[in-house]
This record gives sequence, structure tokens and C-alpha cells, in this order.
Amino acid sequence: MQSNPYDWIDESLATIHKADWYRSVQTIQSIPGAVVKLDGREVINFASNDYLGLAGDERLIQAAINATNKYGTGSTGSRLLSGHREIHRELEIAIANLKQTEDALVFSSGYLANLGTIAALVGKRDLIIADEYNHSSLKNGAILSGATAINYSHNNIEDLHKKLEQHRQKYRRCLITTDSIFSMDGDLCPLPEILAMANSYNAMVLVDEAHATGVLGKTGAGCVEHFGCTGNPIIQVGTLSKALASLGGYVAGSSILIDFLRNRAPSWIYTTALSPPDTAAALAAIQTSQEQPQRRTQLYNNVNLLREALKNNLPHLKLLPSESPILCLEFPTTKDAINAGKKLKDTGIFAPAIRPPTVPTSRIRISIMATHKLAHIQQLVEALENID
Ligand code: PMP
Repeated sequence: MQSNPYDWIDESLATIHKADWYRSVQTIQSIPGAVVKLDGREVINFASNDYLGLAGDERLIQAAINATNKYGTGSTGSRLLSGHREIHRELEIAIANLKQTEDALVFSSGYLANLGTIAALVGKRDLIIADEYNHSSLKNGAILSGATAINYSHNNIEDLHKKLEQHRQKYRRCLITTDSIFSMDGDLCPLPEILAMANSYNAMVLVDEAHATGVLGKTGAGCVEHFGCTGNPIIQVGTLSKALASLGGYVAGSSILIDFLRNRAPSWIYTTALSPPDTAAALAAIQTSQEQPQRRTQLYNNVNLLREALKNNLPHLKLLPSESPILCLEFPTTKDAINAGKKLKDTGIFAPAIRPPTVPTSRIRISIMATHKLAHIQQLVEALENID
């Protein structure tokens, strides 16, 4: 019988459409910023992870141009072969200084940093205990590692305790993994309690600072700094692609951890090194974020302004708990969230709906930037007033 082995893809796509889970891209046609041109029209941008507003900054652009002129466009190989440049090391030293760790290692994305680090740290005889809302890269890192992965309920220390008590002793090593700021909720992990728990059960802790780097803590070092946990033996992973406005990821920790990862993390060893312009832009972003702490002050002024306006003017909208520039409004159904996203777009506001399977419940995710003006936030609040 002649059959087409690819028929199932059509059927699978039809199921995705039926569930309202189908996703497509929207085209930004301008430099990133608080206002962007989206599909031919100017909109106020509440959909970007460029929290400090650095992705269109002249200093970063110049750094990328200078690095391209000096080193070319591509790194041409993996770090251990022909891909390593002195700016990779300069960036690693800058990350380690920011995080106050002995060393750091730059990966080609945050996703790859999580995959490679988890796969290097644990294997078949080991246990991962993970927050159920962890980012996809942490979940897939756990699968890649071959370790037994058990979830604890979101930010629930009692449940973490229960899972450690039930399972820890059956395994060789144990790794607790958590986002610091949860990317699709905006709330924060209870890091000091997690560290205390890890200490009692001889477990390692990996915290994903993707959304917190540049954003949380006095110097923007992240949630570890915010909670006063700097100096603790924590494996800090993160991205260079959000507040640091470039591309790439990193791990920061002890020198022996970094030395070990350089020899064992497959997604670092067997992939092309970060390109020179991306590396230089990330380095310039760290320097700029250190020299301009007012960007973080402005970011939190904007966050507080919007949070207050949502509470006072729009109590009928369900704001999820948040301690970060990510504010999410939950809707009863996926259709409601999608319609809200469309209505906002029609009034010139870009704040898209996020829905299952990415998140358990559908929501509008609003992402605040330091470079939003008061008028932008007022326009968002006015547009939300027309949504029920
Ligand atoms: N971790 C978290 C929590 C994230 O939100 C993201 C990006 N969405 C990543 C890791 C992956 O980072 P990158 O985009 O650099 O691959």
C-alpha cells in the first residue's frame, strides 16, 4: 500500500489549530525600543525582554560594529578549536565580576547553557528536583541528562521538602533547578529557602537568572544578589539576550565548576562559539548597565506605576503575583486572551497572549522597559479599560 509517511504532520497541525494553540510570527520592522513598527504600524512595545532598553542603544551598536570590523562576522569554530577570541574571555570575566563568582563560561544561547550544564552535572544515577513552572530549557536539560526528574509545586518549599525527603537518599547526586524570575508569570523563586533545603539534603542548586540579570539586585546581578545570597555555592545560568540585549548564555560559579563544564558540557564543546558582534554587544551591555544604574531605577518606577494603575483602575482584570517587570493578566479562556491581545494591537499596543501549552492558563504578558514613558503606560491602561 502506498502511503505518505508525512501525512501525520497535517493531522497534528489540525489538532493544534483546533485547540487554539497555533502560533505564528509577527514582524518587527524597526530598531528595538519602547515603540516599534509592527507589521507596518507603530505600536507601543510591551512584548520585549529588553528590560533596560539597551538593544537599540548606540553604544552597543558601535561595539558590535567595531568587533565585526576587527574579528569578522562569525567565530568560525567551537571555542576549543578555532572559535575562541579574547573578547569571549573579557565577557566571561565581566560576567564573573557582575555575579561575584570565581569564573563564568559563555555559551551560544541561554537554552544551550541550561542543556549542557544539566547534562554535565547529573546522569542516570542522579535526581533532579525541579519547580513545575521551570523554563523549557531546564526541562529539556533534565531529559538530556538521563537523570530522574521530579517536579515540586510552583514555589512551594513544603513540597520541595517532601520530594527531597521521599527521594533524595535513593540517588547519588541531587540537583534542584528553578527559574529565578519565572518567565511567563513574573514571580520570584524563594531562593534563601531553597538554598537552606539544598544544604540539608546535600543537593546542588541551579538557578536560571535569564530574566533577572541586569534587572534584580542593586548592581543588576540578579536574584542571588537581590536575596543577599552572593557567595553561596550556586550554579547561576542566564542569558545575554534579555536585559543584556544581545545573544548568548552563560554559567557563573566556582572555577572548578567552569573548568569541568569546559570539558564536559556538550552544548559548549560541540557548537560554534558566540559571534564577535554578539559577544561585544553583551560586554558593552554589562558595562552600560553598571555605569547607568538609573536604568534599573526607571524600570522599577515604571513597574510600580503600572502595578498601581492595574490595582486601582482595573480591579476586574486578574493580575498574577509578580515581583518583576513581567506583569501577567489571566483570562478564563484562550479565546478571551487572544481577543484581548488583538484588541490591544488594534489600539496600538503590542502585548500578546501567551497560552497553553506554554503556560497552564491563558494570559496577556506585559513586559515593562526602563525606556517606557509615562504616556506609554497611560495608553496601555486606557486600552485595558476597554477589555473585560
Ligand atoms: N531560561 C529562561 C527562563 C528563559 O526565559 C529563556 C528565554 N526565553 C531561556 C532560558 C533561553 O535563553 P536564550 O533565549 O538565550 O536561549
